[in-house]
Amino acid sequence: MSSVPQSGEYEAVIVGAGPNGLAAGITLAREGLRVLILEAADRPGGGTRTVELTLPGFHHDVCSAVHPMSMISPFLRSLPLTKFGLEWVHPEILLAHPLDGGRAATMWLDLDRTAEALPGRDGKAWKNWLAPFLPHAHGLFKDLLGALPVRPRHPLLLARFGLDAMKSGLCLARGKFKSDEARALVAGNCAHSVRPLDQWFTAAIGVALSVAGHAGGWPVAAGGSASITQAMARYFEALGGEIVCGAEVRDIRDLPKARAVLFDTGPQAMGRIAAARLPAGYRRRLEKFRYGPGVFKLDLAVSEPIPWTNPLCRKAGTVHVGGTLEEVAAAERACRTGNAGPRPFVLVAQQSICDPRRAPAGKHTVWAYSHVASRCGTDHSEAILNSIEHYAPGFRQTILATHAMGPAAMERHNANNVGGDITGGVMDLSQMFTRPVARWNPWTTPDRGIFICSSSTPPGGGVHGMCGHHAALTALRKVFGLRPQGFGSVDPAETGSRA
Ligand SMILES: Cc1cc2nc3c(=O)[nH]c(=O)nc-3n(C[C@H](O)[C@H](O)[C@H](O)COP(=O)(O)OP(=O)(O)OC[C@H]3O[C@@H](n4cnc5c(N)ncnc54)[C@H](O)[C@@H]3O)c2cc1C
Repeated sequence: MSSVPQSGEYEAVIVGAGPNGLAAGITLAREGLRVLILEAADRPGGGTRTVELTLPGFHHDVCSAVHPMSMISPFLRSLPLTKFGLEWVHPEILLAHPLDGGRAATMWLDLDRTAEALPGRDGKAWKNWLAPFLPHAHGLFKDLLGALPVRPRHPLLLARFGLDAMKSGLCLARGKFKSDEARALVAGNCAHSVRPLDQWFTAAIGVALSVAGHAGGWPVAAGGSASITQAMARYFEALGGEIVCGAEVRDIRDLPKARAVLFDTGPQAMGRIAAARLPAGYRRRLEKFRYGPGVFKLDLAVSEPIPWTNPLCRKAGTVHVGGTLEEVAAAERACRTGNAGPRPFVLVAQQSICDPRRAPAGKHTVWAYSHVASRCGTDHSEAILNSIEHYAPGFRQTILATHAMGPAAMERHNANNVGGDITGGVMDLSQMFTRPVARWNPWTTPDRGIFICSSSTPPGGGVHGMCGHHAALTALRKVFGLRPQGFGSVDPAETGSRA
């Protein structure tokens, strides 16, 4: 940390330059504060870095790949990120879910098109389910991703959302739909909860991703996810902020003097780093914070697009591989044990089909991961490859190079991925609103100058910056006596978001 200025010239210091650390920095710097961000890695970005992991010219998203949450984040939508180099690319089909017999369910930006592609009466059921949310979807997400306690702008819509969200994924899918196709779409979206689909509230993320998809799409960032946080970092620096990389913070006493310190880290890491200032009782509560399963991820350089049997899967940015609702549910149950089984649920992103910058001409990148037990040391490469091959015979012959990361490698890449958990901690009922511990304002700590701003706070994981924004608004109020409105006001054309 020798390169870190020690002169006390900053009003706020942020530990970690992930999307939430940068969001906090931007929120503070927009109010004219002098802000320093310290990042352990050699570049900012946290869970949004893009690296040539396999062969030269193949740009792989190490962590996040597909960004529905960025599209509906009121904070990110308020930033002029296109001015700072961010360009969103939308695949023709948001999501495909292959099934045996060459069948596939597909989700399109257009609600009618999605409905038309579903068999029997499920098309109408899909429309009846999601159409009521769409006219006010962005207002709804302001409520859902807003500060706690929620003061809803759309109470009826929020109640409607809540009634579905509180269900288990299995209950939502079976209650609303009859066909394998529609049920599989719901299953895949609910499986982003990283919890067994028979548990309450596993429907929440499924409903959110479905509404978000029809409201703003599931795009990828042109050139790689790193360009999201590169644009945020450039904007932050244009506001006068400073970022120092290669600066892992181990003890809060090593930081330059500042009135506010914000942690874009896990709760336990904050407890250790700020032990000199945080009371032992609070640190013990942080130690009880629970992490969920990990991930096993494969990045592949391939000679051609994945040869999916169903041609629609070749046009989708995201493909959920795991079969029927029951098969996805069984795989998600099994993944919590050390033995994930031969056919895991695999999330596949094929960014290069809509973003040719990812690979040399004619070649492609594949991003794929499955959920595995926390800290699991087993190599799941074969299971992932077999699952894709099942719906895309000949896929293995297209592979030019492979890069694998299990839970331990995920944590080495970024200390916030504890045990390989990519969601900043379990998102079950007891931790959904009480991240990291139960407090009226979850971004505060017993020390008036210390805040936590990572995805281990509400509203949780994903590239949306809302955790950092809320933490920074709290610091502005409590430490600096400022009362900013939140979500600036920028022309939507500059944000790159759909209106
Ligand atoms: C494999 C994978 C796939 C994902 N896919 C998606 C996706 O498709 N879409 C999506 O929206 N989200 C996805 N996510 C989740 C998303 O990446 C995270 O939710 C998001 O990055 C969280 O942002 P954050 O700022 O809270 O933390 P992080 O992005 O984890 O950033 C924290 C930063 O703090 C730094 N840091 C930690 N400790 C210290 C320290 N002591 N000193 C200095 N710096 C420190 C870290 O190096 C890191 O840069 C994925 C994540 C992973 C791992």
